[in-house]
Amino acid sequence: MKAMRLSAPGHALVEVDEPAPLPGPGQVRIEVRACGVCRTDLHLLDGELPQARYPVVPGHEVVGIVDAAGPGVSSPAVGEQVGVPWLGRSCGHCHYCLQGRENLCDTPVLTGCNRDGGYASHVVADAAFCLPLPEEDYPDAAEAAPLLCAGLIGGRALSLAGECERIGLYGFGAAAHLLIQVATFQGKDVCAFTREGDQAAQQFAMSLGAVWAGSSLSPPPFPLDAALIFAPAGELVPLALRTVRKGGSVVCGGIHMSDIPSFPYAWLWEERRLLSVANLTRDDGRAFLALAARAKVKVHVRRYALNDANKALEDLRRGHLQGAAVLVP
Ligand SMILES: [Zn+2]
Ligand SMILES: [Zn+2]
Repeated sequence: MKAMRLSAPGHALVEVDEPAPLPGPGQVRIEVRACGVCRTDLHLLDGELPQARYPVVPGHEVVGIVDAAGPGVSSPAVGEQVGVPWLGRSCGHCHYCLQGRENLCDTPVLTGCNRDGGYASHVVADAAFCLPLPEEDYPDAAEAAPLLCAGLIGGRALSLAGECERIGLYGFGAAAHLLIQVATFQGKDVCAFTREGDQAAQQFAMSLGAVWAGSSLSPPPFPLDAALIFAPAGELVPLALRTVRKGGSVVCGGIHMSDIPSFPYAWLWEERRLLSVANLTRDDGRAFLALAARAKVKVHVRRYALNDANKALEDLRRGHLQGAAVLVP
């Protein structure tokens, strides 16, 4: 199999060619059709994830066809199309797993972080943590891939925000461009906040149904029920708190963020809530994929060859993308 491997933080990915791994008990091997490139992969490159082990093959938005099943696996079957998300396995017996909060598991296996992921022609995954992606609903694997993290994290952030009609999205990248379609399908009004002067991103947001788009330094036209932050910039947190009404929520969707500057307590007071999203449960995955199918979410992707992974990551880092980068082996 071919794979793009990261030997240590700060290095470029290197293409390797080696025998494909065999699935163990409870596992399947998947022939990768597409793998999305997520901002988390940049944090992995930069050594900002304490959970990571190196060397590692990145990639946790994997879509492919099951091509071998290990002992004891009856589903998914060989030949089925599945998705492999960030949560590769949870322990099943820690405090959080027993409460049904497997996203907070104490000892998770994380795809493309502490287990090899989908920047490869083949990947091994736990059968019980694969998500169904039937080919009739998802005929284009590259367009399905970004749903598996950008989409799911956005969906979980939105559900953590609680009841809301008017929402703001900070950082109009892969997650926000999917979430805005789901939110407008649900009848919500969406304001899109971008970097100052980023006309292209603002126009992109308006074309996807935003009622307002502007700089993250500008106030929205009305108070928001919730603001969701997908950019890894801590200075957005106090700005977002200023846009939400009494009792409103600010939800941080990223796995890593720069430091949050200090701000007056009054900006948090009146029962505003500030919270973060960590990982996903399998239920989140199934619920969001069903919702995205109903909302007929259109995924904007830029395709790269597998051995162009370094270029895809650099384009993401420089903000040169509209929508999501996807590697196609
Ligand atoms: Zn656990
Ligand atoms: Zn991700």
